[in-house]
Amino acid sequence: MSEKVPPAPGLRIGCGADVHPLAAGRRLVLGGIAIAHERGLSGHSDADVLAHAICDALLGALGDPDMGARFPDTDEAHRGRSSLEFLREVMRDVRARGYAIVNLDAVVLAEAPRLQPHLEAMRAALAEALGCPAASVGVKAKRCEGIGAIGRKEGIAAQAVVLIGPAAPARGAAVGARAARRKPRPARRKGRA
Ligand code: MG
Repeated sequence: MSEKVPPAPGLRIGCGADVHPLAAGRRLVLGGIAIAHERGLSGHSDADVLAHAICDALLGALGDPDMGARFPDTDEAHRGRSSLEFLREVMRDVRARGYAIVNLDAVVLAEAPRLQPHLEAMRAALAEALGCPAASVGVKAKRCEGIGAIGRKEGIAAQAVVLIGPAAPARGAAVGARAARRKPRPARRKGRA
């Protein structure tokens, strides 16, 4: 599972899921957006459960070990860290291996607070961190209708699916490649034959 993915063409899909408990005295951060609420998610970093699910989906698409291995909670360097930084770091790997995000879709499962007013800001913040258009990022919110731990407001969960594909060559690189394939023109003769 830990073999590195060769820079081969083709689409790759990854899925990710995460859950964090809600606790008093913590800031609630979802998709990089701070949301006013009486409790926040507890965790070693900012506990942004949505960013974590997307991060795991990207790592899965690359065939890499998950977030726990990549950003262990035993590392003091990650304490209180913004999870958007994790996304930026993983995206550097995605690009280095020749891939770009085709699109991703995510759902946050939360009984409270109401997340609908924050979804657009989350999409924009995530797209900025991922370096892709907001149109490639889907974020939905669902309640659990009072069922289970999420329904009892004990925590918030998130799930994400991401599709990555070969990155388009840089504009200059494409022009350079065409020029390299072009046959040299015969030298123009002077005067008429
Ligand atoms: Mg997490």
